[in-house]
Amino acid sequence: MPAVYITGANGFIAQHIIKILLEKGYTVIGTIRSKEKGEKLSKIINNPNFQYEIVPELNAPDAFHESLKKHQDIEYIVHSASPVTYTVNDPELDIIIPALKGTENILNGTLLLPKLKKFILTSSDSAIYSNIDERNNKFTFDESSWNNVAYEEGKKDPVGGYYVSKALGEKKAWKFLETHQNAFQLTTVCPSYVFGNQAFKVDPKNLNFSNSYVGDLLTAKNDQFENEIGGFIDVVDVAKAHVFAIENDSVIGKRLFLNNGKFSVQMILDIINKNFPQLNLIKGNVGSGQKDVEVLANVNNEFTKKLLPWQFTSLETSVINTVQQILDSK
Ligand code: NAP
Repeated sequence: MPAVYITGANGFIAQHIIKILLEKGYTVIGTIRSKEKGEKLSKIINNPNFQYEIVPELNAPDAFHESLKKHQDIEYIVHSASPVTYTVNDPELDIIIPALKGTENILNGTLLLPKLKKFILTSSDSAIYSNIDERNNKFTFDESSWNNVAYEEGKKDPVGGYYVSKALGEKKAWKFLETHQNAFQLTTVCPSYVFGNQAFKVDPKNLNFSNSYVGDLLTAKNDQFENEIGGFIDVVDVAKAHVFAIENDSVIGKRLFLNNGKFSVQMILDIINKNFPQLNLIKGNVGSGQKDVEVLANVNNEFTKKLLPWQFTSLETSVINTVQQILDSK
């Protein structure tokens, strides 16, 4: 089976992509930042068709070149690695530069691969709207929308920095194709907040950024939680979309906007309390979720839904899967 090179292999979304690819018989080469992390991941994945390459830092010069040169048979690249956090000291140094330089590095690396067919980029809904416009219900966004937050604005705070990193990163990939028209076929995947269980094994103390909104509720002591709002999508739907893009030419040149509705953390809390009453968690402002999300912009991703031949997972199922796995790990 063909070889797929995936960056940030230990990431929440990447592990799900790897799991599906290995189940289908692909050979997978995943990049990871250290030998220690690589050995840990290989042990968890436990499949001879998976191997890792160490790429410690996305923005090191030609970060991916050495590892790509070793795998001349690569036919597909999934670029998923990017800083996903709002807790940094310097948004430009810690989020924007690694994201943009990393994307530039992997794009330049594609020129080393004679058999490369497709490049699938994990972008974000943050590339589609700004964090301000996302909370303006007068707006509607679809696959043709772009967040136009200026680089200088993104330097000012981590949230803006993340949004800038995703929009400019994705634009780099589309731009690269203008100058290197035959380098590969491109599909970008733009998910909203991603929830769901971990692909192989969960470490409840180190949940990825989006799932920490779920995990934190399990230990919250009072009703003072951050009631974040946004769009959501299940991690398996995100992983399936990447693999679909590898296998189906119908999504070449497309942006896939993965969103299955709106959430507030209060909604997540209500779902946990309904399905796991034995946990006796805090209650918050029960039933106020629909009101919480009224402020959010409208999403029209009918184009994406028509292209992908399956129904997206509900928030309830996604949250149940996340919580159940955490409970099972104890
Ligand atoms: P994750 O679990 O935090 O994984 C991110 C991966 O990127 C990890 O492998 C991480 O390595 C690597 N990475 C980060 N900064 C790096 C750097 N400077 N140098 C080298 N590697 C670096 O995040 P995720 O949720 O799976 O996200 C994966 C992709 O999906 C990202 O591109 C993100 O923007 C996008 N996305 C995520 C969500 C969401 O809600 N989770 C929503 C929309 C889009 P270490 O773990 O070793 O640091």
